[in-house]
Amino acid sequence: MTPFMQALQAKKAFGKATPEPKKEVKAIPKVAKKRAKDNREYAKVSRPVWKGKLCQIRSPVCTKHAEGFNHAGGKETKEKLLDIANGQAACNACNEYCEQHHEWAVKNGLRIKRNT
Ligand SMILES: [Zn+2]
Repeated sequence: MTPFMQALQAKKAFGKATPEPKKEVKAIPKVAKKRAKDNREYAKVSRPVWKGKLCQIRSPVCTKHAEGFNHAGGKETKEKLLDIANGQAACNACNEYCEQHHEWAVKNGLRIKRNT
């Protein structure tokens, strides 16, 4: 008899089985603790660069007001994340547009090709 069938038999024998206590579900963190710390530092450094400024990318979907920072050289390391000289103030729409239209971004100097 399979374990499933055994469990089914046990259920029948003792009437309604008591529900199992719910296991505590822990959410997987979206960023590692180390990256979260870097992000807080990044927020302090980058906010003066874009807050209250106009978007410098001006893609076809631009909303004009900067909401963040576009990392032209990527942000996979802490050094690149905090490299404010290598990027510009950007609205979220433009930042997303650069992600979706890589060739356009490279052509306009908004992304640096990393695989050359
Ligand atoms: Zn924009």
